[in-house]
Formats: sequence, structure tokens, C-alpha cells
Amino acid sequence: MKKIVTIGEILVEIMSTERGNGFIGPVSLVGPFPSGAPAIFIDQAARFGQSCGMVGCVGADDFGRLNLERLKQDGVDISGIAIDPEYATGSAFVRYREDGSRDFVFNIKHSAAGLTALTDAARALIEGSDHLHVMGTSLFSPKMVDCVLEGIRLIKSKGGSVSFDPNVRAEMLDLPGLRQALETIFLQCDLFLPSGRELYLFAKATTEREAIAEILKSGVRAIVIKNGSEGATYHDCATTVRQRAFDVEEVDPTGAGDCFGATFVSCWLRGMAPADALRYAVASGARAVEKQGPMEGASSLAELDSFIANASAGSRS
Ligand code: ATP
Ligand code: MG
Repeated sequence: MKKIVTIGEILVEIMSTERGNGFIGPVSLVGPFPSGAPAIFIDQAARFGQSCGMVGCVGADDFGRLNLERLKQDGVDISGIAIDPEYATGSAFVRYREDGSRDFVFNIKHSAAGLTALTDAARALIEGSDHLHVMGTSLFSPKMVDCVLEGIRLIKSKGGSVSFDPNVRAEMLDLPGLRQALETIFLQCDLFLPSGRELYLFAKATTEREAIAEILKSGVRAIVIKNGSEGATYHDCATTVRQRAFDVEEVDPTGAGDCFGATFVSCWLRGMAPADALRYAVASGARAVEKQGPMEGASSLAELDSFIANASAGSRS
């Protein structure tokens, strides 16, 4: 079985239990939950049964232990995760507004996550892997960009593949050199996983059909576009496959895209037909939004099979 590796931020998420605006007064909180887009991604890959590992850095504190224990328990190879004795584990405080948008307070760049480096253990993990997944959120500093670019070089030099979820927050696009880094990563990825409008981040075209053709011509082997509660579509040079979302109650959308991506990449690396891979990925995204907490809705293959069987039984009755 092919082994997936990812590089990036490991955080705890602490969320307000009440909707409203921001954190400018006292609110009730729930957490810490293990989090960080690449950490959620790799945890879902492990739950699905894929061989996988992560490169990152946590502090020598409970927030770090909470993450390491969860990842290890779920089957992630944590040999590439360093523990820094001085800096605290990264964190994200989140509060939902009435309209479903979110306010965040992040501590990432100046936390242990910002110290992520390609240590000897991290290099050994990458060299023992077949596929690297890159999350746009992980490109939060020039040092992180260098780690990711070196990771891509190591994976590609042994004939491995790369997937890329651009997943950039709007405010990150102003970071010096970030656009150039995104472009460099995009040009080396085999599988591109944008959400909605991110399809146009690297295309001159302004219509969906032209943007897809342009991206496939640039060397990307397949594109999977995530469209939230509308489902997702898959495109390669030979086929287009659409999959509607499953009808579920959205409790917490955080982590849907990460779980979706991990399940899709795992299926793709197993050589599954695109329609089957997409069905599993869409089911994985649906199960993720049903649970509160970013990583709490990660699913095993058996859970996805039973979810899909129940959903199709429901739609027939
Ligand atoms: P994130 O907010 O984690 O970055 P994303 O924007 O990358 O997510 P989404 O499109 O929100 O990705 O979600 C990924 C997939 O999860 C969707 O394509 C869909 O299949 C599924 N999904 C997301 N939201 C819902 C929902 N409300 N109901 C059912 N399925 C959903
Ligand atoms: Mg979303």
C-alpha cells in the first residue's frame, strides 16, 4: 500500500459554545480538540486504513500530547513530529456568527508549529513515503514554504506523487512570496483539490470548462472541485464525474474539506475508479460536518460503507 505524508501545522481548536461576534468579551468555550488542516487530513487517511505519516512540531504541553496521542492512536506515523521544549503548541479559537461565517484567533506562526523543520526523522519519513499532500494553510511563513518545496523535491525524486489543496485564507495571499510559492507547488502537483472559486487561482480562463482544460494541459493529472453542500466533481483528460452531497445536518463544517481530500487521495492511490473514489470522499465530507470538532468526524472505510448503504436505502424508500 502506498504511504501518504503531509507537512504542516498541528493545532488545538477551542470553540465558543454560543454563536455571535468574536471574542471581545467572555464566552463559554469547548475544547481543546485536535486540529490543523494537514493534521485532520492525515488523521482521516489513517482512519481510512491508509499507511501515512506527518511532519510537524508541537510543544511539550498537554495540547501537543492531545494531538500526538490522537494521531498515534488512529494509526498515523508520528516519527516526523518534533516536540519543542520551549514553544507552546499552536491554537485556534473559533466562534461562529449567526450567519454561519466564523471569527478566529490564531496562534500558529509564533507557536511550535512555526518551528516545523525537515529534521533527519522527517526526511526519513518522507523518503519512506510515496505521496505528499500539501495544504495551502501550511504555507504561513517562508520557512514553511521551504520545508514544503523540499518535501516535494524529495518525493518527486523517488518517483512519488503530490496532491495540493490550495485552502488559503484570503489574508494569507498578501504574505510576501506566497503567490509565487503557490504557483510553484501547483505546477508540480498531480492531483489538484480546490474548493469553489479556488479553481481559478492558477488559471487565466474565466469559465469553469476553460479553466479545467487549461489546468489539465499544465500537467495536473486530475482535478477534484469541492462545492460544500452541493457535492463535488472530478475531471481528468478522459472523464468528468459528478457526485451530489449526501443529505445530512451540518453541525460543524470545519474539517469537511480535509476529510474529503484524505479519503479521495487514499482511494486514488489505491487505483479506484474515479466515481467510487468520489462517492467515498463525498460521504467522508458529509460525516465530517455531522460532528462537532474538526477531527471528530473522521471515518473508517467500514463506517463510510455503512453510511453510503443507509443513504442509498433512504433515497430508494
Ligand atoms: P473546509 O471548510 O474544511 O476548508 P472545503 O471548503 O475545502 O472545506 P467543502 O466543499 O466545504 O470543502 O466540503 C468538502 C466536501 O464535503 C463537499 O464537497 C461535500 O461533498 C461535503 N460537504 C461539505 N458540506 C456539506 C454539507 N453541509 N452536507 C453534506 N456534505 C457536505
Ligand atoms: Mg467549506
